[in-house]
Amino acid sequence: MTVYLVGAGPGDPGLLTQRGARLLARADVVVHDRLIDRAVLALASPGAELVDVGKRPGGPDPSVPPHARRQEEINDLLVARSRAGRMVVRLKGGDPFVFGRGGEEAEALDRAGIGWEVVPGVSSAFAVPALAGIPVTHRGRATSVTVVTGHGGDDPEEGGVDWGALARAGGTLVVLMGVGTRAAVARRLVEGGRPPDTPVAVIERGTTAGERRSRTTLAALASVPVNPPAVLVVGAVAALDLGRTSGPLDGSTVVVTRAPGRAAPLTAALRAAGAVVLAVPVIETAEPSDGGAALAAAAAGVGAFDWVVFTSAAAVERFIPRLDDLRVLGAVRLAVVGTATAASLSSYRLRADLAPATSSAEGLVADFPPAEAGGRLLFVRAEDAGSTVAAGLRAKGWVVDEAVAYRTVPAPAPAAWLIEALAEADAVTFASPSAVAAFLGLRDAAGRPVPAPPLVACIGPVTAAAARAAGLDGVVEASDPAPESLVRALIGAAGPGGGRPRPAPGRP
Ligand code: SAH
Repeated sequence: MTVYLVGAGPGDPGLLTQRGARLLARADVVVHDRLIDRAVLALASPGAELVDVGKRPGGPDPSVPPHARRQEEINDLLVARSRAGRMVVRLKGGDPFVFGRGGEEAEALDRAGIGWEVVPGVSSAFAVPALAGIPVTHRGRATSVTVVTGHGGDDPEEGGVDWGALARAGGTLVVLMGVGTRAAVARRLVEGGRPPDTPVAVIERGTTAGERRSRTTLAALASVPVNPPAVLVVGAVAALDLGRTSGPLDGSTVVVTRAPGRAAPLTAALRAAGAVVLAVPVIETAEPSDGGAALAAAAAGVGAFDWVVFTSAAAVERFIPRLDDLRVLGAVRLAVVGTATAASLSSYRLRADLAPATSSAEGLVADFPPAEAGGRLLFVRAEDAGSTVAAGLRAKGWVVDEAVAYRTVPAPAPAAWLIEALAEADAVTFASPSAVAAFLGLRDAAGRPVPAPPLVACIGPVTAAAARAAGLDGVVEASDPAPESLVRALIGAAGPGGGRPRPAPGRP
């Protein structure tokens, strides 16, 4: 079976090609590098096998250098999975053929007689500078751009980089994999004739929520702290800073705690308002404790209900695929809370018959019609859902069956750099009490709790009450689950003149 060598782009899932996204959604196996953003992996089909080949392989073999061994194991894995008849996507950061060893993997597949196809990606070499406001070529500043590895060794006789020649050639240099060798690279370029005050831009984790930029010069590059992965841009263009966004939340960093697959609308709304978004998913959904038995039973008998009520997209996504044939819904009416829940239904070509004017549990109960005699209703919910909906609808005369569709569990611990970045965030957003609890459970490398940012923006009164009860200060509340509403609450707290949101006056 054809193996697809797919470029994942530099991080932001919006920069994956359409072809790449389609293949990812169809793959049986996704073999990926360590650096691939979780938001991109979230585009793989839920049943796909994800293999992280960035991790160190076991069993040292002293006769083979570690790099080669790892590469051979990857090649073998691709061959084995493909021979087993599975559709394999080899997902690589940026473009697979730009310092991605994609060419080597293609050769190995050729040797094994396996067909392959490359799906080019947006390379970090150009995209990361671009999104940091740096055009790699620019009239009057650079008529050429060279992409070079900082890791190739610097002896041209041995196939290394001829830094002297690159220095003389002028133009823009984009250095990949150059964090560890930046002192030597800068020295060689100055020795080769580039002025020590040549501008250098350093962009870490470009296009992702954890992006960090700094500007320096060749002379000072060695003393600037840099964490990989980073792109170094050397040359006159590195002094440019084009098209900076400016919005009411300009300059503020906002933490989004939603699961990767659910964060996109809020992330987009925050970015549109000028905020830098730090994606720290703290919860994810898991099978309910009963393994889904109640859900399966409810799905099998759904035709007997007058209404089915969903208050989350996750409930829709776990329930609807359980129906063998959507026609069993026949005359069953559907109620939702929230635009994301409605959107999830419409992805199955189902339209909600009722969405309350106020998107909340209370709003649903208020707008729900009273039951006719014997009226039956199914509430598909999270295991830890509150009692407002079920109790309120019973009070309106409905016989309410509840089916637990999923459980919210803490997500795997975020990377250490993300935990560190949290300390500088201005605001955090929560969509549920379980997200509040999971956030407060985060620990840094030393086992200390992570400080909460000064502003805590919550969807709905229940979440806000949970945040206050947990002792958090600076709690602001969005009236409904629409992302715009949360953004408005943050802008409101930012006060006149906008900028970094601050806790409302009078708060401790
Ligand atoms: N094939 C990739 C490059 C692989 S080499 C591409 O086309 O982008 C890995 C190097 O790419 C890293 O050391 C770093 O220099 C750069 N890189 C990849 N993603 C990056 C990102 N999001 N931000 C900054 N640098 C990145």
